[in-house]
Amino acid sequence: MSERLVIVGGVAAGTKAAATARRRNAGADIVVLQDEADVSYSACGLPYHLAALDRIPRRNLIARTPEAFRADGIDMRTRHRVEEIDPDRGTLKIRDLQASRVYAEPFDRLLLATGARANRLNVPVSPDAPPIVHLRSIVDADRIVGMLPDVRGVVILGGGYIGLEMAETFSRLGREVAIVEMMPRLVPAFATALGQVVEDRVRENGVELFIGSRVSGLDQGHVILENGEHIPADLVLAATGVSPSTDLATAAGIQLGQTGAIAVNSRMQTNLSHVYAAGDCAESHHVVANRAVWLPLGDVANRHGKVAGTNMAGGRAVFSGVLGTAIFKVFGLAVARTGLGEAEALAAGFDPISHVVEVPSRARYMEGSRKLLIHLTADRGTGKVLGCQATGEDAVDKIIDTVAAALWGNLTVDDLADLDLAYAPPFSPVLAPVQVAGEVLKKHVGGIQGK
Ligand code: FAD
Ligand code: NAD
Repeated sequence: MSERLVIVGGVAAGTKAAATARRRNAGADIVVLQDEADVSYSACGLPYHLAALDRIPRRNLIARTPEAFRADGIDMRTRHRVEEIDPDRGTLKIRDLQASRVYAEPFDRLLLATGARANRLNVPVSPDAPPIVHLRSIVDADRIVGMLPDVRGVVILGGGYIGLEMAETFSRLGREVAIVEMMPRLVPAFATALGQVVEDRVRENGVELFIGSRVSGLDQGHVILENGEHIPADLVLAATGVSPSTDLATAAGIQLGQTGAIAVNSRMQTNLSHVYAAGDCAESHHVVANRAVWLPLGDVANRHGKVAGTNMAGGRAVFSGVLGTAIFKVFGLAVARTGLGEAEALAAGFDPISHVVEVPSRARYMEGSRKLLIHLTADRGTGKVLGCQATGEDAVDKIIDTVAAALWGNLTVDDLADLDLAYAPPFSPVLAPVQVAGEVLKKHVGGIQGK
């Protein structure tokens, strides 16, 4: 009899796993249970869709429709919510949200790809307050589209990835935008020097910033800050982070890790060997820090899904880990990171040293050459590269991806400074930006000077 592989969640990790399992095992019964009506969509594209509905219509965000999965022999059940797992019996309790009926479904192997949820705001909200929205799913985006005609002023809570991408979107749509960030700077996960560049850019583009501020409540037409200030708003976007969706897992006795996401081994198995977890609900192993981390990112979810799908279908794939590589764009500025920042490196037991360099992205005399800020971190004793953050209008992705490869290869700052990289004036200065950063930092690293 063929194995019954059941997947809960049908966006990034779940659909990647289903498609991979199908390729690996043509005879397996594969069922995907997804509570939303849409599957396999790019949440990452939502801010760009909202900024340009005509150029990036909703349908372009959907990689594969439910019908396309079904045509591939995958039993894709949308609007079906899994309410309970009985891991010993190998059954699920499922609610068909359209037919309002509850039924049981057996499984041999189960994948939890339940994702993450937007954090909710926990302050008093008067009944006539502006509506609060989140941006997590494609339906959240539909809701925002429907509200836009009545919105002039938007207050965004949270100056992280979504807050900043959406500040640009709302500005492009001609709305007045304010951001309230509780930490002393925007993008607090980045070094102060980079946060300052981001802050300047956002202000220059007319966004009002309330940094180091907390919201105490919402009343008619306003967001109220703890210092008593009232910010006018027709709409409030809460972008204050996300939390892994783990309720189903914990109720079934599946263990969480220290990060609060589901603990998995390198084959994406939970503590129950026939139950896997992948994507935003699961932890990953950080290669540099050598510990479990929670990184709710789309590329990680896809990599997790591929490994889980292979293993569920009888293969032997191993997840090789993460570096914490990420990038976003705000008002023409790219902001990216890989590896550990200084505080994270200290916590991981390194003796970190960092330097910031300002370099041109291409030969200075070339059109398109832009100033780049690179913050490189290494271990003082060994010179091992630990992490990099960069911001600028050009070549930031190239810098971060180069350092990510260096981290993967366990390179030192000497190695980084010596890499054989591509050069011609329209692409790079003769000494590439990462090489300059490596050269500067290597002067401060003990034990390998003058190498
Ligand atoms: P999810 O996308 O959360 O999908 C899980 C699905 O499972 C959901 O549809 C959920 O409703 C469903 N589900 C949960 N519980 C049940 C249940 N009990 N029964 C049935 N169904 C259930 N990442 C990047 O790397 N780069 C980016 O540029 C980027 N931009 C982003 C922009 C935005 C606006 C957002 C919101 C996210 C962005 N991300 C980005 C993050 C990326 O989208 C997520 O990491 C990715 O969607 C995670 O995929 P997932 O399948 O693990 O989880
Ligand atoms: P985030 O963690 O990036 O930022 C949340 C911000 O909200 C932080 O700066 C935090 O200090 C602030 N905050 C928290 N509580 C607050 C409060 N009560 N008042 C004011 N500020 C508060 O989270 P996000 O922007 O919601 O994005 C969620 C996740 O989606 C990200 O962690 C990321 O994994 C993913 N994402 C990635 C990208 C990308 O890679 N380009 C883009 C968008 C989203």
